[in-house]
Amino acid sequence: MGQVKVKQRSTADFILKFPPRSLCGGDRATVSREHMPPRSLFDKKHRPDRLVMPACMECNKGTSTSDLTASMISRWGMDISPQSQADHTKLAAQIKRQAPELVQEWLSVDAPSQQLKARAHLERHGVSAPLGAKFATIGALTIRQLNVFSHKAALALYFEHFKRPLSNAGRVQAIWKTKEDFYQKGIPPELLNLMGKYGTLIQGRWNASETFEYRYDLHATDGLFRCFARFRQGLFVLGFAISDAKTFADNPLHC
Ligand SMILES: [Zn+2]
Repeated sequence: MGQVKVKQRSTADFILKFPPRSLCGGDRATVSREHMPPRSLFDKKHRPDRLVMPACMECNKGTSTSDLTASMISRWGMDISPQSQADHTKLAAQIKRQAPELVQEWLSVDAPSQQLKARAHLERHGVSAPLGAKFATIGALTIRQLNVFSHKAALALYFEHFKRPLSNAGRVQAIWKTKEDFYQKGIPPELLNLMGKYGTLIQGRWNASETFEYRYDLHATDGLFRCFARFRQGLFVLGFAISDAKTFADNPLHC
């Protein structure tokens, strides 16, 4: 009861503070609070109540499958904890109801011969998978969900640091990577060096950096923002945003 009241009040506060200024461009009305990263990324869906942004109905409801997809794929790996495994089972049940086509896509290489092929494919790219590893396909449908997720993550972190939504005059670009992409050489230091600042999800003494952390940098006057975020052990997002596309058109070298 108490919690529900707090939630309603927080949402009401957001609507007052950002009435027509939701995360996705600032034109649509704020109707709810968006958590980035989503609650489903965290063990038992338990996360600090920070990194919360104003969202319109479309963003809040329309990106739920993207959130689920990212929360599952970021858990994929061999040394998954029992809690993460249990959470994954629940998320899998939800996504089977909500977007069964994604599960079909992941399992489309389930036959033993295809599993061998998948292993050989990774090995050709220098990724040695442990014995007993199972392989899934990240195909067109999944890619679309992860693209939505990564752009939303970049918009959310932009909001966090500029304290305003990226307007429609701005531009955002994001790409995602999986841990396999960094298997051989690790995360390029050039990439991390681009971003001198560090962020994570902290509330009081509660620090969720094991599940989520990011590097970022910004130029407040020019409205430039870049970030590189890690979601659990398996998913990474590189994002760029610019408050006004004209800044880029006027001075491309500067960006
Ligand atoms: Zn929106």
